Amino acid sequence: MKAAAFDYRKVQTIDQALSLLQDFGDNAKLIAGGQSLLPSLNMRLSAPELLIDLNGVDELKGIKVRSDGHQEVIFVGAMTTHTEIEDSQIIAEKLPLLKKAVPHIAHRAIRNLGTWGGSIVYGDPAAEWPACAIALDGVMVIASPDGQRKMKAKDFFKDLYTTDLQANEILLGTEFVISSLLTCDYFEELARRHGDYAIAGLTVQLEHIAGIVKEARIVYFSVASTPMIASQAQNLLIGNSLAKMKELDLIAQCQSAVRSEIQTMSDLTNSAKMKTHLIGVLIERALKSLAK
Ligand SMILES: Cc1cc2nc3c(=O)[nH]c(=O)nc-3n(C[C@H](O)[C@H](O)[C@H](O)COP(=O)(O)OP(=O)(O)OC[C@H]3O[C@@H](n4cnc5c(N)ncnc54)[C@H](O)[C@@H]3O)c2cc1C
Repeated sequence: MKAAAFDYRKVQTIDQALSLLQDFGDNAKLIAGGQSLLPSLNMRLSAPELLIDLNGVDELKGIKVRSDGHQEVIFVGAMTTHTEIEDSQIIAEKLPLLKKAVPHIAHRAIRNLGTWGGSIVYGDPAAEWPACAIALDGVMVIASPDGQRKMKAKDFFKDLYTTDLQANEILLGTEFVISSLLTCDYFEELARRHGDYAIAGLTVQLEHIAGIVKEARIVYFSVASTPMIASQAQNLLIGNSLAKMKELDLIAQCQSAVRSEIQTMSDLTNSAKMKTHLIGVLIERALKSLAK
């Protein structure tokens, strides 16, 4: 199938995009890399009157280290492509979790076009970036006709393909406060073939002082309608030594915690029961890998 007819405007500034969104309301759609939007237009799941192309807006592109007035942050602009994240020295040094995750996003041709912001706003529960953004305690920076607002990544994803972003808003990018980043991280996803969407995936950020876990962020993706934080397992780890994380007793407690706390959801090919099994497998692998 082909998309229904639409008008097209390529804007150069955020204000131009906001003004068109204001004028057209639900009849307009922003387009970034088009890797998710164009298939949905072709399948006629959506038929906007106007596509507003953000590819001319330089302000939305790139990865920068900057100060937000109080602290140093890494800012990943919404129009930064997956490939730019993959190739970035700043990401490799400061946000290695993203570097570990990015090869799992589709294939290079799609990563050359698909963007950070497109993936975050699309809110696909199987996508890697939303879970990573939560594990890294990222903050979404959002523009609307009334000004800017910020929202923690953990509060941004509301439901299947649904975020807190309103129809007249644009995601500018995501901030990561350098002092909030934890030193150890882990990423794994289970997929049928490399580049396929995950059957189930896990991201972990962890901080320890002298081998004792002080903070843990454990976030699953592709198991429910949004990324899922495993708060009970996080609490089980805090206060334990890294060495203990490979002990079967603690592993079993964490497996039981994630399997009871996270209500998994089936997808087209995998049952909820299978996903519940896999989240236990993933936490065991993560703990054994992070243990020292
Ligand atoms: C074959 C295939 C395999 C894929 N596999 C994976 C995978 O394994 N993992 C994964 O995570 N993704 C995967 N993707 C999706 C890919 O990562 C997309 O790039 C991404 O989901 C959307 O990014 P985009 O830039 O293409 O956004 P678009 O498709 O252009 O837009 C997506 C949505 O976001 C909105 N939007 C875009 N930018 C903004 C903004 N700045 N502010 C507000 N709204 C905005 C658009 O209006 C639209 O609703 C795959 C895609 C394909 C085609």
